[in-house]
Amino acid sequence: MTNLNYKKIIGIFILFLIAVIVSACQPSNTELSTNEENFQVTVSILPQAYFVERIAGDLVDVNVMVGPGEEAHTYEPKPEQMKSLSQSQILFTIGLEYENVWVPRFEDINPSLEIIDSAEGIQRIPLSSDHARKDDEDHDEEDLEEGLDPHMWLSPDNGRIIAENTLNALSELAPQHAEEFQENFDNLVKDIEELDTRINAALSDLAEQKFMVFHPAWGYFAKQYDLEEIAVQVGGQEPSASELAALIKLAEEENIRVIFVQPTFSTANAEAIAREINAQVAVVDPLAEDWLANLEAAAKAFAAALED
Ligand SMILES: [Zn+2]
Repeated sequence: MTNLNYKKIIGIFILFLIAVIVSACQPSNTELSTNEENFQVTVSILPQAYFVERIAGDLVDVNVMVGPGEEAHTYEPKPEQMKSLSQSQILFTIGLEYENVWVPRFEDINPSLEIIDSAEGIQRIPLSSDHARKDDEDHDEEDLEEGLDPHMWLSPDNGRIIAENTLNALSELAPQHAEEFQENFDNLVKDIEELDTRINAALSDLAEQKFMVFHPAWGYFAKQYDLEEIAVQVGGQEPSASELAALIKLAEEENIRVIFVQPTFSTANAEAIAREINAQVAVVDPLAEDWLANLEAAAKAFAAALED
């Protein structure tokens, strides 16, 4: 390739980049329809949007980083999301992997952005798959952090803490609406308490306590209701052939009849185990937006798998 051609290609590429950036900066139809008076907040995942919307209602426009069907642990922000972020007053984090790298960059783009940890005050527990880890391995601090379960939004007790953190941040942002937020929060807490009562009833007198999931998202839920989660994934990875064989043996011993999968991961290994032990495969979604209804649906699915 001649030097001239090379420069030409670079030039075209730069023009293309500028076009992409300019088009990303044009307001989209959905943005035009948002209320100018509204507060703008960004959350990492859909269940956090549920808490913001329950408390602030129509006063807030919520920008969600991890969209429907996207995998939360491998998520990277898209260029067009930066515009919404630059207009946001609050970013609610939830301890996802991308936040470590990206939150400092967000603060550079939008220095007035308030960063609120939705999960502040929640006691972190180890990931279920860590039971499979060997204890003789050296663990540094990063390993310990990695070994903690990031799915903190998936229990009624933790939901209550997230609701409180959300209420406090929104009331500070808009003190003129604090009374309304408090009222909405009280209703939400009442709903969470009633949900807890219904889940307790659904999960009482079960024949089995151990349930098997591909991706270990339900550790906090299991802890609150005295269940035990067995994960197919080991340290966030697909199991090796020998680990798969051990899981099949374990599933047989524990009388596992249903293996739970979620929409964002491959179901091949879960199906392989299910075939071997003649079990069913069922879906539970950790990232559904209707947090309350979703926890109830998951409780029913676990109950059906664990009753006589
Ligand atoms: Zn997860």
